[in-house]
Amino acid sequence: MQPGTRVAVIGAGPAGLTAAYILRKAGVNVDVFEADPIYVGGISRTVVHNGFRFDIGGHRFFSKSNEVEAFWSEILGKDMITRDRLSRIFYDGKFYSYPLEASEVVRNLGKRESLLSIGSYLNKKLFPIPRPSNLEDWVTNKFGHRLYAKFFKSYTEKVWGVPCRDIAADWAAQRIKGLSLTRAALAALWSPQPTKPSDDRSRVIKSLIGSFRYPRLGPGMMWEATAAGIRELGGRVILGVRVTSLTHPGPSQGWTLEIEGSGLRAAGLESGLQNYDQVICSAPLSWLVSAIRPGLQAEALEAAMALKYRDFITVAVMIKTSTTFPDQWIYIHDPGIQAGRIQNFANWSPEMVPDPSVTCLGLEYFCFQGDTLWNMTDDALIALASRELVSLGLVDCEMTLDGAVVRQPKAYPVYDENYKNHIKRIREALATVGEGLQAVGRNGTHKYNNQDHSMMTGMLAAKNILSGKQVYDPWNVNQDAEYIEETE
Ligand SMILES: Cc1cc2nc3c(=O)[nH]c(=O)nc-3n(C[C@H](O)[C@H](O)[C@H](O)COP(=O)(O)OP(=O)(O)OC[C@H]3O[C@@H](n4cnc5c(N)ncnc54)[C@H](O)[C@@H]3O)c2cc1C
Repeated sequence: MQPGTRVAVIGAGPAGLTAAYILRKAGVNVDVFEADPIYVGGISRTVVHNGFRFDIGGHRFFSKSNEVEAFWSEILGKDMITRDRLSRIFYDGKFYSYPLEASEVVRNLGKRESLLSIGSYLNKKLFPIPRPSNLEDWVTNKFGHRLYAKFFKSYTEKVWGVPCRDIAADWAAQRIKGLSLTRAALAALWSPQPTKPSDDRSRVIKSLIGSFRYPRLGPGMMWEATAAGIRELGGRVILGVRVTSLTHPGPSQGWTLEIEGSGLRAAGLESGLQNYDQVICSAPLSWLVSAIRPGLQAEALEAAMALKYRDFITVAVMIKTSTTFPDQWIYIHDPGIQAGRIQNFANWSPEMVPDPSVTCLGLEYFCFQGDTLWNMTDDALIALASRELVSLGLVDCEMTLDGAVVRQPKAYPVYDENYKNHIKRIREALATVGEGLQAVGRNGTHKYNNQDHSMMTGMLAAKNILSGKQVYDPWNVNQDAEYIEETE
């Protein structure tokens, strides 16, 4: 790395802040630009409302990567608490442990339905649907139609917003290879021992971990402390500023960022145009492609436009008791309820609520920007969430104290049948603009992954800058935050 190298980081989420912290610790001049005027942490921020704190979906801190775990410990130390996981499924008015327990499944489903489920499984083993091309047929073949209908269909359709018949089978093969609820159900029905989660980091299936860490004030605490660390080391984390374009004048001439927003003046920046030698971008890939000047090839722009996202609303409902259910979150499989999951934030950390007699329930609605849910007023969403809590029997009408709504665009990058081709085109085009620009993070690389993955991509981008050459390819980080060397 040349002495005096200036680095810009776009986005103060886990990926951007991790990269900036590592760079600043090594003495590099780094500026982080964050569009949000209040919060750092991106999707991993913690929102504060009248003394209650809540996440954009509950955020567990667990990684198979020692480097990531060590980073979390370095930043927060004793402020990280360890929680035993409790989360159950709600289906047809009953709670099911997750992973499922055989006796409870039989008790809840009844002997007749349990036998029918086994029968429908055996039926598909004997008479599978030939060449299953969609998720419904693929899962039905694997587990039988009855288990598919109970423990897969409704929740999957809530999350992705399309019928399971419209989701490609190879997506299922990829996502369900390590774990599925139905697999757990079958294991439970067949095995005399309930499936026990394991904490052996090398083997554990992430969705089933038995315990996890959590900052005592929510995930935002981690990212606020990281931002504070960057500032203490002399770096800048500037809020309320949106990068609107990146101009690459030519080889070895760095990048000029165009930046807008009220945070500019507060940060003492004279101009909205700033020059950098290197840029790390954690903003959505679709945006990055459209923001590069001179513009990229039409093929890349079309591919970027074609990337799809699923959006998300958290409706936080503050209620009078903290004991409504003991889980950190529950999955709502009942198709009559629009919420997909419900978090109970007092069970994540007692410090998420102002006192022990109250809690904040976070109802999660998966949606598309501009659809009916997205366009509902905050009051209507809070009324919907409160009604659903009552109809599930979790809350009495008079228990509700307050409510708050957070809309999160681009919460989930969608893996549709064409996304891999789009990414390939985009990466080819990005390679033509050459050195000095690295895409990192969840939406930055269009990968549906956790914080640890996002952080690892930021770590590798920082290491590349420090070493002065492209040693690592952040695109080769897998969902377990492991760096996979490219092989022929
Ligand atoms: C419902 C839900 C639950 C989750 N649960 C977990 C969990 O339990 N554990 C876990 O580890 N992970 C979880 N995740 C994933 C986690 O939230 C992400 O992996 C992580 O936040 C991604 O970090 P990032 O830095 O890549 O991106 P982001 O968090 O998206 O941050 C990107 C930042 O860039 C900013 N930005 C974008 N464009 C611009 C621009 N042009 N100029 C300036 N700033 C810009 C954004 O405002 C944002 O702050 C969950 C995600 C969701 C949606």
